[in-house]
Amino acid sequence: MPNFRFTALEKTLSRQVVPYSMPKNKPSEYFGEMTFNMSAMKEYLTSEAYGKVRQAMEKGDKIDRKIADQIASSMKAWAMGKGATHYTHWFHPLTGSTAEKHDAFINPEGEGKAIENFRGNELVQQEPDASSFPHGGIRNTFEARGYTGWDPTSPAFILGNTLCIPTIFVSYTGEALDYKTPLLKSAQALDHAATAVCKMFDKNVEKVYATLGWEQEYFLVDSALYAARPDLMLTGRTLFGHSSAKDQQLSDHYFGTIPERVIEFMKEYETEAHRLGVPVKTRHNEVAPNQFEVAPVYEEVNLAVDHNQLIMHIIETVAKKHNFVALFHEKPYAHVNGSGKHNNYSLSTNTGSNLFAPGKTSKQNLRFITYMVNMVMAVHKYEDLLRASIASEGNDHRLGGHEAPPAIISVFIGSQMTRMFDKIENSETREGMSDDLLQEFNIDVPKIPEILLDNTDRNRTSPFAFTGNKFEFRAVGSNANCGKPMIALNTILADQLAQFKVDMDAEMSKGNSFEDALFVVIKQYIIESKRIRFEGNNYSDEWREEAEKRGITNVKTTPLTLNTYIEDRIVNLFERHNILNRRELEARRLIRLEKFTKKVQIESRIMGDMATNHIIPIAIRYQNTLIENVKGLKDILDLQTYGKVSKNELEMITRISNHISEIKKGVDQMINERKQANLIEDELQQAMAYDEKVRPLLEYIRRHVDKLELQVDDELWPLPKYRELLFVK
Ligand code: ADP
Ligand code: MG
Repeated sequence: MPNFRFTALEKTLSRQVVPYSMPKNKPSEYFGEMTFNMSAMKEYLTSEAYGKVRQAMEKGDKIDRKIADQIASSMKAWAMGKGATHYTHWFHPLTGSTAEKHDAFINPEGEGKAIENFRGNELVQQEPDASSFPHGGIRNTFEARGYTGWDPTSPAFILGNTLCIPTIFVSYTGEALDYKTPLLKSAQALDHAATAVCKMFDKNVEKVYATLGWEQEYFLVDSALYAARPDLMLTGRTLFGHSSAKDQQLSDHYFGTIPERVIEFMKEYETEAHRLGVPVKTRHNEVAPNQFEVAPVYEEVNLAVDHNQLIMHIIETVAKKHNFVALFHEKPYAHVNGSGKHNNYSLSTNTGSNLFAPGKTSKQNLRFITYMVNMVMAVHKYEDLLRASIASEGNDHRLGGHEAPPAIISVFIGSQMTRMFDKIENSETREGMSDDLLQEFNIDVPKIPEILLDNTDRNRTSPFAFTGNKFEFRAVGSNANCGKPMIALNTILADQLAQFKVDMDAEMSKGNSFEDALFVVIKQYIIESKRIRFEGNNYSDEWREEAEKRGITNVKTTPLTLNTYIEDRIVNLFERHNILNRRELEARRLIRLEKFTKKVQIESRIMGDMATNHIIPIAIRYQNTLIENVKGLKDILDLQTYGKVSKNELEMITRISNHISEIKKGVDQMINERKQANLIEDELQQAMAYDEKVRPLLEYIRRHVDKLELQVDDELWPLPKYRELLFVK
């Protein structure tokens, strides 16, 4: 009987590179051609409508129905010109992926005729029958109305034959059921608070917006091998697999030559991304075999989050054309590095300044240090919220390994900034503070290229690191919607900046000058937030101990972490800035708890199935071969020789027996634990039962299966092995 593993493998190996021919024209000529961007709008809209959209984008003004009708009909004309036949509202429900429901432009007109139609109200608002999206109790199914509403700040785009319109998703009663709604609100709160602080330094600043540049990691696996791994297909990760003799120990994959088959795939998805206006720029191999990374030029945070969701979709679909499957799970393989998503974060002003970049004058540098200190202070106050914002079942496997930051949030600012902070902390007066700043950054010397400033020392182990002109939040999971951590970051920074303004006003009302007040407040913040700064190795055990002494949260798994969302402190924070209310936060927590439980439940079920009907039967089959062999030996050998020869084989048979019985025991116990957990009504208790009772059994069963993998005849083994999954190019 042909072995499935080899049949799959053979198919793969016979597969050729799927060549991709790049468009003839330059990327700058097709960049954004599939988006209804500003230049398309200018071409298709009346100047009145164009002006209204601009105002909506820049000032958040509302668009009235008459104008919406005009925009809709122009958008339709544009989209149909590009071959679109359908349209959809494209949104980010709390499942973590994106959702679409396609409607055709076509409308019957009577007398058997039809016309293509797309009206303003279809653009602006839709009511998808969305009762099956998670809502954490906010929306009972009998009043299942949820509304999607057009977000004019993120351009509509065409995927396949469908015009996709980025929208928010809210319930009938107005509560947010998505990530975009609170993200937009948090960006607005941040703009409000950060602009007010900017005005203390520069009256010309009218707007501050957060910028995000994500670095997205993922694995590629051959689709035939993938299809032979039910665990990968259903859970996104391998539940079994002994480590490959060689994996990442030689560090020969990182930044190595990209294989030809992968290059063709990359060329194609990059072109697709560019046509959709996603400014991807960097690609390289990552640490683990078959692991890669893509990064764009940064953008305003709302657009960047949409583009991250979009790139994941593009990569998934283009990978298929090249007979690959793209894995975004945080830990698809044990023993090799998992995948993260570094979120590079900064603040830009309408006057073109980056508020986390040192400037050229002492005034600019005072502003820079103000924003730096406030960011550190915000993390100090809300480290637990940042931790919760990146929690997920998948990320639990990655955080705290020797590949990713621990579940402890701290800030790295680099030696230059540390010197600066120390200097301020230890000064009695502000005299010299500004001159020191100038000298420290060495920017009074003309013509120093800006890039030198960006090359501050790096600490790759820090979860939240200052990297010269931005902060890099590195603990985000590869599969996450970036919206979650960005909502948290925007909100805590907005809150801190508002507090800063209050503290400054209080100091100045004592008769202090602006500079004096600034010195007092900043110095106090530097001292107060000191515990959150850590410049050493975040992967070390010493840091865990030290962090505990400093009272920094260290909750390793998701369920308990999510309690943070319903603490009064956090609820007040979100309510204070009108971003999320208590009901919405409670709903979000419940949704994530439920998701956690379901994910572990699915893993546990598929593991039980595979252990019972893939692994054990094969182990028994191989064991029978050994038994037959021993019997045969007995027939042909004299008793003494037989005694010697059979010893090894009998040992092998016993060992296999032991593994089989441990696997069986583990599966029975796991099913039992699951049954008990399923009876628990409280969502937290249930998730914790899955975490503490079911998960360890997954590990236990795996250990025995992986041992068997080393003993059973390779030809019989039912699953593609790590060396194939990781190395077949
Ligand atoms: P690394 O050295 O960490 O791999 P890069 O310097 O190449 O990273 O930049 C990584 C990401 O940081 C890119 O996506 C880039 O767009 C983003 N980035 C750079 N400047 C900013 C900024 N001001 N705001 C947000 N993201 C930024
Ligand atoms: Mg980086």
